[in-house]
Amino acid sequence: MTKKAIKYIQEELKKMGLDPGKIDGILGDKTLAALDKVPGMPLNFPKTRKGVWFIQDRAIKKEIETGKQDGYWGPQTEFAFESLVRISEGLEPEIWRPEDLDESNPNDWPVQKPETELTRVYGDVGKNQARLHLPYPHCLAWDTSTVVNSFSCHEKVHDSLSRVLTRVRDHYGEDRIKELRLDFWGGCLNVRQKRGGSSYSLHSWGIALDYDPGRNRLKWGRDKASFAHPDYDAWWRFWEEEGWLSLGRTRNFDWMHVQAAKI
Ligand SMILES: [Zn+2]
Repeated sequence: MTKKAIKYIQEELKKMGLDPGKIDGILGDKTLAALDKVPGMPLNFPKTRKGVWFIQDRAIKKEIETGKQDGYWGPQTEFAFESLVRISEGLEPEIWRPEDLDESNPNDWPVQKPETELTRVYGDVGKNQARLHLPYPHCLAWDTSTVVNSFSCHEKVHDSLSRVLTRVRDHYGEDRIKELRLDFWGGCLNVRQKRGGSSYSLHSWGIALDYDPGRNRLKWGRDKASFAHPDYDAWWRFWEEEGWLSLGRTRNFDWMHVQAAKI
């Protein structure tokens, strides 16, 4: 957390009638004691996490999208914090506006929760796979000298995936595909559970793909992720017209990832 964020926390505590001590941008004993008096504060959190939780709490009170209130500083919290600062400076908050999203769902992709919806449509994890022969060659994102001409995906998404990638090839062409790293493949089928949870990652059914993870890290928002750049508008249009969902475009994190399930 930055000094600026801590100063913001101290000023907000003061406005609430709690005494944070000096407004100095340091998370000292007095500020921590004041934080502990905030209704709902998880007292078992370590101090930085308490601070982040408090910022998320302010955002929620002001109806700013901040993602999960978990005390961790990710791109959504970053965005929420910038909006809070704008409000405290008397400016309009910058609202997170997803791009002009195409909400269509021509292939009737299921919603991702509850998991029973996924198993109803796609069956058990790791099953019902088909071999997709790619319209243009990919390479492994973590070993770009390895060419990939085909991979496994769920049989129900196979045709749609093939249509999307054919349109990508026809629109961008070979050179542009390489320039934009639309061939940097980060994987599809991978049976695994989500970090820190018991539910399965959507990759477990072969219905999610990752592209160019090196320039679209999990926690990066639109300020850093290459896939947020307008050069990729057509790329996303081709996916969205087939009903695929980008976590980057809808939630502003995990820009590498696209899935055949709605949120
Ligand atoms: Zn993914």
